[in-house]
Amino acid sequence: MKAARNQFYVPAELKIIVIAPELYNRELLRLDGSYRIKEEGGVMSPCPNCQTNVGMRITGWTSARKNCQRVINTKLSHDIIIGATYKCTFIDATNNKCNKTFTAYDGKLWQQFPKAVKRKYQDYVSVFVDRTTNQMLSPGFCDQLLFYKGSFEDMSRRLANSIANLANEATAMYRNFTEEEADLFPPELPKSMTPEEYANKKSQKWPPFNAEKSFSGYFKMPTRPTVTKMFEELYMTELNLSCLEIS
Ligand SMILES: [Zn+2]
Repeated sequence: MKAARNQFYVPAELKIIVIAPELYNRELLRLDGSYRIKEEGGVMSPCPNCQTNVGMRITGWTSARKNCQRVINTKLSHDIIIGATYKCTFIDATNNKCNKTFTAYDGKLWQQFPKAVKRKYQDYVSVFVDRTTNQMLSPGFCDQLLFYKGSFEDMSRRLANSIANLANEATAMYRNFTEEEADLFPPELPKSMTPEEYANKKSQKWPPFNAEKSFSGYFKMPTRPTVTKMFEELYMTELNLSCLEIS
């Protein structure tokens, strides 16, 4: 039951974007000689530090920053980004071991992927990460925020509503699931209780697991100051980028 419950930590309707181009974009990576490995058809990112893929391997998956790397998309819902993690153990001619680690969706390793690969994830991976909520803002959402004609108050309300809708849906599904399970596998009635007493006790304890609370721990509600800050940082980033383009 506990294991089943854990399934609901990922709420219904939530998209999970897995970024591992070595697995999902092999054909595109093969076009770039620096990604090919000796084995037939094999590809691996070259290490951004030593420029060779000889010592590189995929060590697992991460979505870590604080809780989970999330992306706010244009529909104002949240997608979760999971990326491959890499480690380079290349030993150079002077016997120095590289020992650097990387993730697929940010930093130098992400930057060096061929354009055609990055284009596949352009709706999700953004250079812009909001530091107050630890969320990635998708490029589409950045545009939406920059050109939004309403107030920050309004935008934060729309974001909060979209999270609340996801939470309600997840909670309802969890509730249905536990009720169905209880019908299929009725718990043993304690000897000291009548069925009515037991039913009463059960409803007092409902819900057995607080899905709403878990959800709000997982997703940060964007308040008006947060949205304002997102906008300000985004505006400054865009401004700096356009200054770079001009100069
Ligand atoms: Zn290296």
